[in-house]
Amino acid sequence: MDFFSYRNGRLYCEELAVADIVAREGTPAYVYSKATLVHHYTSIASAFAELKPTICYSIKSLANVNILRVLRDLGSGFDVTSGGELARALAAGGQADKIVFAGVGKTDREICEAIDAGIMAFNVESEEEFANLSRLAGQKGTRVHAALRVNPDVYDPKTHTYTVTGKKETKFGVDIERAMKFFQTLGKDKNVLLDAIHIHIGSPIYSSQPYVQAITKTLELIDRLREMGFPIEMLDIGGGFAADYEEGASPSALQYAGDIVPLLRGKGLRIVIEPGRSISCNSGVLLSEVQYVKKGGDRNFVIVDAAMTDLIRPAFYGAKHFLYPAQLEPGQEPPPRKMEYVPPGAVKVDIVGGVCESSDFLAKDRMLPPMKRGDLLAVFSAGAYGFVMSSQYNTRPRAPEILVDGSGYRVIRRRETYQDVIAPEL
Ligand SMILES: *Cc1c(COP(=O)(O)O)cnc(C)c1O
Repeated sequence: MDFFSYRNGRLYCEELAVADIVAREGTPAYVYSKATLVHHYTSIASAFAELKPTICYSIKSLANVNILRVLRDLGSGFDVTSGGELARALAAGGQADKIVFAGVGKTDREICEAIDAGIMAFNVESEEEFANLSRLAGQKGTRVHAALRVNPDVYDPKTHTYTVTGKKETKFGVDIERAMKFFQTLGKDKNVLLDAIHIHIGSPIYSSQPYVQAITKTLELIDRLREMGFPIEMLDIGGGFAADYEEGASPSALQYAGDIVPLLRGKGLRIVIEPGRSISCNSGVLLSEVQYVKKGGDRNFVIVDAAMTDLIRPAFYGAKHFLYPAQLEPGQEPPPRKMEYVPPGAVKVDIVGGVCESSDFLAKDRMLPPMKRGDLLAVFSAGAYGFVMSSQYNTRPRAPEILVDGSGYRVIRRRETYQDVIAPEL
């Protein structure tokens, strides 16, 4: 669900035609819809309201400080995975006591920054990290809260292997048997109050069932830990709710909550949720202009001015994004957002960028209306893991980020210049 739609053959973001935005700001450009962000945040908040959860938006999916401000104003906390993301959360006015810090490789510097900020909890992933956290907290003479990240050994078979994180053999967290030992040996530490469990089983997870399995297993672990005298206060169920890469692909927040909330009701646990893409993904499109159209053997290439440097998900995970011209020819119908949709007169094309790599594509074998130089192409569902994964490879300055609010817009990150790219070397 989002607020991008065609009107009279032109793609609109809320009340603005995207072609009018890029006529001023140029391409490639990321355009975000504030109403869509707000819609997804509030859907999750109201679906889970009974549990009074702390929602910690996962910054890594879409990290612009101005986006974080929108979410903070709605009451969101933040899930950070690095010192840099912590700095963003704080720069956006994020409340430290609603910040959780995940990641298997936290450095001393990052840990100290988070202790100084006074975050809500460290999501600890190994015995060594715990010992280090305890040492650093001890040095500072403070006591910090930690959750142990547990692998419930559950995953969604539809999730790409690179984004599965809940299986035993991933690098994340510890398995359930080791969690018991972890508490027995480290659970009474004087510098780190270990009173919480964290799970994050991967993403995107296209049904509530993996959550139900993972939470059920985790609640059994919590019961055992409580019986052993460890008063577990908090459960962080992670993120990974799916987004609509095609229309109707993901369950609604109410569907996830319908199965998850009854499991957690009355358990005496403070609940944390870490949604990322379910808030950010459908809030953004990447706009790009067709540069050239060419044939190579029997393949048709549409070469655009966005590239893997702007959106790496297709090259990185084989991810599929729906894309379509932002301006329709007279008589053309607005498309359903389905990868398999074949518009009248369609041509099978590969949409590629100008980077010197064969993996530089945005889509392959897609049936699209014939396109020509100068046409504007919209890549949908690009708000999450889009701009944040962009690079300057081939010395390509990064695209701007633009936030639309009703009939107005604001450039929330300007387009980089050559000078921005080269300056740190001079
Ligand atoms: C990436 C991540 C998330 C968010 O995942 P989404 O698929 O964007 O919802 C939440 N928690 C942790 C620990 C993560 O690493």
